[in-house]
Amino acid sequence: CGIVGYIGNKKASGILLNGLSALEYRGYDSAGIALVNEQIEVIKVKGKVADLVSQCLSIGSELNGTIGIGHTRWATHGKPSKENAHPHSTKKFAIVHNGIIENYKEIDEFLIKNGYKKTSATDTESILLLIDYLSQNINTLEALKKAISILKGSFAIALIHLGEEKIYAAKKESPLLIGIKDNELFLASDLSAFLEHTKQFIVLEENDIAVLEKNGQFEIYNNGVKVQRTIKSVDWNLQT
Ligand code: GLU
Repeated sequence: CGIVGYIGNKKASGILLNGLSALEYRGYDSAGIALVNEQIEVIKVKGKVADLVSQCLSIGSELNGTIGIGHTRWATHGKPSKENAHPHSTKKFAIVHNGIIENYKEIDEFLIKNGYKKTSATDTESILLLIDYLSQNINTLEALKKAISILKGSFAIALIHLGEEKIYAAKKESPLLIGIKDNELFLASDLSAFLEHTKQFIVLEENDIAVLEKNGQFEIYNNGVKVQRTIKSVDWNLQT
């Protein structure tokens, strides 16, 4: 339902939680964030962003990390629960997803034959495990590209990987935007999630894959080719 992401020099958790609060108007049943630290850290709850905030406050100062993703879920596959809430994660990856994967059962059959077990009832976890499986032989970008070529359905995806200072994003039939501010980058399914930080943004186009890096660098690929997208600007002033 709602996606946020942050990569920069500031602590990600607060920025992600604020972004998720800004997306609350869309309605949702659960919420969560994932951060890249020495390990992939995931905090998620069934319920409101306020519950997620209290959960994060109880963990406190250990919630470090300047790279992270967050999600508010509107369940389509699997009941609203903590297990089914996003981000979904393995030891190496965490993912958030908006949309519906139509062929997830087929993908699950393949994954189960290859020794994977699902811990949720979602279609989203199937994308995660597929990327995890593919990444045994190829790098994250190639694994994401390959996974997307297998997926049928709609998706906006944000993905983080342990040991990489990057956020990977992909978009098909579900909106995804990059917010641009000097040496920080934001990702969101809706402008309102990062408007308090920047008015400069890019709207990802169908089948775009984006790689966001530290220091505000990013690349966008479409069909294997590097592409340029227009940087737009919000031209009204909210600070009055
Ligand atoms: N299909 C996914 C799920 O049920 C994503 C739903 C959403 O867009 O929030 O978990």
